[in-house]
Amino acid sequence: MTGLPKIDVEGLKSFINEAEIEELLTHKSNDKGRVREIIAKSLDKNRLELPEMAALLNTDDPALVAEIKEGAQELKRRIYGNRIVLFAPLYIGNDCINNCVYCAFRQSNTELVRRTLSLKELEKEVRMLESKGHKRLILVYGEHPRYDADFIYDTVCKVYETKEGKGEIRRVNINAAPLDVEGFRRVKSAGIGTYQIFQETYHQPTYAKVHPSGLKANYLWRLFAFDRAMEAGIDDVGMGALIGLYNHKFEALAMLSHTIHLEQKFGVGPHTISFPRIEPAIGTSYADRPPYQASDADFMKMIAVIRLAVPYTGMILTAREPVALRNEAISYGISQIDAGSDIGVGAYSKEDSVESAKKSQFVLNDNRPLDSVIGELCEHGFLPSFCTGCYRLGRTGEHFMEFAIPGFVKKFCTPNALLTLTEYLTDYASPEVKAKGLARIEAELAEIPDSNPIKRELMQKLERIRQGERDLFF
Ligand code: SAM
Ligand code: SF4
Repeated sequence: MTGLPKIDVEGLKSFINEAEIEELLTHKSNDKGRVREIIAKSLDKNRLELPEMAALLNTDDPALVAEIKEGAQELKRRIYGNRIVLFAPLYIGNDCINNCVYCAFRQSNTELVRRTLSLKELEKEVRMLESKGHKRLILVYGEHPRYDADFIYDTVCKVYETKEGKGEIRRVNINAAPLDVEGFRRVKSAGIGTYQIFQETYHQPTYAKVHPSGLKANYLWRLFAFDRAMEAGIDDVGMGALIGLYNHKFEALAMLSHTIHLEQKFGVGPHTISFPRIEPAIGTSYADRPPYQASDADFMKMIAVIRLAVPYTGMILTAREPVALRNEAISYGISQIDAGSDIGVGAYSKEDSVESAKKSQFVLNDNRPLDSVIGELCEHGFLPSFCTGCYRLGRTGEHFMEFAIPGFVKKFCTPNALLTLTEYLTDYASPEVKAKGLARIEAELAEIPDSNPIKRELMQKLERIRQGERDLFF
């Protein structure tokens, strides 16, 4: 199972109907009645169809765009509440055989310092992240024969077995190049949470231009990665498009097509959707001026439209984006953000920031430490969560359950958020953030009626955490 996977795309045909998507994008909208009907359909807990999502994307009347954003906010409030899940990325290695024109890790980039963590170094990185209070990580790898399924398996196991003080990582997600089914089975057996991979662009002519060589040049091998992952038993997959390569509206519609394909074939869509915008990267002039960069206004509208189009899916916004934009986007339905991130290989445990940049894939715009992010989220009325309850109890597809099962959020998610936030405040928070967090917890508890049996159990579990127990969840 070592080395690169054997690519086999025989008999595969793209399920992205590019001509249909382009055609849908030519229809001008701004039909108030129709836009309102579509928002209502989504608020009624229905996934949208391609023409409906296109109608929202094609709307540019400011008053109607405001209604779309309000719709997204309403959906988030009604179904998911104010929780926001926190994670950190951990870059394992930046060797790569591909030549993606936008990425600093590409093989032809001579300005990048190449580095792969040894298991010992990985352990140090994990200890550092645990000492800050992190419980959920995403491990990120370039595409290289040395980062094969066995290597990924070893790194995931190492993260789970590393414990620092009361800290531990309870969910390890991965972002790694597509494997074959056997490879996916191997990494699943290490206990990964989500398998994340971005198609980058669903537009084939653009895909060919920006992926000139290496395994990644094969569009279909990547497009069917989730099919193979799901065949291998990985239920939670994280989809994404890199915004800036081609028209962002096209990519949003294509992600809906991808979602529908997975629903039809496996009965379940993606666990999360991501839409990173291209950021400047060392030795990478393409990333300074991406041909289709979405403006902030278009980007925010797209986030609100995606929220409405796939109401059951988690949405991730990373520290590529600046603080103010992230705070606004959370209200449109972002459910997960990273915090305290450093994307230099080996950066958490030792590097200075200049050194780190030479090993990084791109530049981050939100450099706040985890503690500050938690403080600010609490101040803004959000509820930071490190919950991994569903995954630990084998409840995969938890985001779908939050959406589909009435009362699920109140019964499981909010209590688990309160328990994990209490752990954080007890073990890691600065006095200032602790005060903000405790006030937030009090406010949340006041919302739960005393007659609710969950409240009694929750209060008992909170007390047990204060007494020193850890990892309690519903
Ligand atoms: N090598 C694997 C791959 O290409 O799928 C996984 C890791 S790659 C390091 C993770 C993601 O970073 C890519 O899928 C791409 O979307 C994103 N990325 C690459 N260059 C970027 C840039 N300049 N700005 C923002 N995101 C970038
Ligand atoms: Fe390699 Fe992934 Fe970067 Fe492409 S995006 S150069 S595959 S690390």
